[in-house]
Amino acid sequence: MKPSLKPPFNPSLKTAKAADAARPAFPVRLKPDAGVPSATKLIATSQSAVRPTGQKGLKISAPATLSGGVGLDSHAVRARMVAKLAAQGVSDAQVLAAMGAVERHRFVDTALINQAYEDTSLPIGLGQTISKPNVVARMLELLRHGVAGKLGRVLEIGTGCGYQAAVLSHLASEVYSIERLRGLHDKARENLRTLRLANVHLLFGDGMMGYAKGAPYAAIIAAAGGEAIPSAWIDQLAIGGRLVAPMQTSSGAQALVVVDKTPQGVKQTLLEAVHFVPLKSGTS
Ligand code: SAH
Repeated sequence: MKPSLKPPFNPSLKTAKAADAARPAFPVRLKPDAGVPSATKLIATSQSAVRPTGQKGLKISAPATLSGGVGLDSHAVRARMVAKLAAQGVSDAQVLAAMGAVERHRFVDTALINQAYEDTSLPIGLGQTISKPNVVARMLELLRHGVAGKLGRVLEIGTGCGYQAAVLSHLASEVYSIERLRGLHDKARENLRTLRLANVHLLFGDGMMGYAKGAPYAAIIAAAGGEAIPSAWIDQLAIGGRLVAPMQTSSGAQALVVVDKTPQGVKQTLLEAVHFVPLKSGTS
C-alpha cells in the first residue's frame, strides 16, 4: 500500500460509562426478549443453539462447535460485543467488522469460554493476558486512522494466543506477529491453524528488535509495554506509517502511545492509561 499522511490526531479520551449504563450487562444478563435468544448463553446445553425465526434479521443457524464439543451460538454474542464496542465509541466500520468476524472464544481456554465476549482481559497462560475487546478495537482503530482501505504490512509485537493477529488479518494485507515465549508462539500456531489465515506469519523471537525482513511496515502494534519505544520499531516503520503501543510514562504508569512517522520527522502522541504486560527482551 501507499502509506498516506494522516491528519492530526484528536487525543480525546473515550468513556464507556454512559454507554454502559444504557446497555444491559454482557452477556450473562441478556434476556430472550432483549432480542437475543436464551440459547445464546455461551455454553449451550444441547446441540440446538437456534435463533427464533419470528424476529427480524434473525435466522436459524448451526451452533459453532468447539473441539471439546461445546455447542456455542457465537454469532449473536459477538454481535452484542460489536454493538457494545460501537456504543463505547469505536466507529471504524472495518474494525467493528473484523471484531465481529473473529471467534474470540476459540482463543481462550475452555474454562474461560463463557467470558470470551465480555469486555475483560483474560489469562492465556505463562502469566500473559489477551487484552479486552475494547482495548483491541481501540488500538486497531488508532492504527487504521486515516487509511481508507486495508493497511499494508503490519508488525505485531506479542502474538500471545493469536487473537489480535487474527483480527488484524482482516485489516491488513500481511501480518507479521512475533512472540518471545515459545509456549505461546506454539499455542497461537495451534489456535490459528484451522482458520487458515494465509496472510498471518507467526514468528518466534524478541520483538524488541522488530522483524527487519518484513520492513518497512505500514503499521506496528505492540501488546506489551516497555519504558520506551525501541528504536528498531521506528526504523522499520514506513514513512507515513503509524505505531501504536503501550509505554511507561514519566509517572511510572502505562499509557497508550501513537507514533506517526512523517517525511518531516517522528511525532509522538500520548493517550489514555492502559495496563499491558511488560515488554521483555530475549526469548524463553
Ligand atoms: N495480542 C495478544 C496479546 C498477548 S499479551 C493476543 O491477542 O493474545 C502480550 C504478549 O507480548 C505476551 O505473550 C508476551 O510474551 C509478549 N511479549 C513481551 N515482550 C515481547 C518481546 N520483546 N517480543 C515478543 N513478544 C513479547
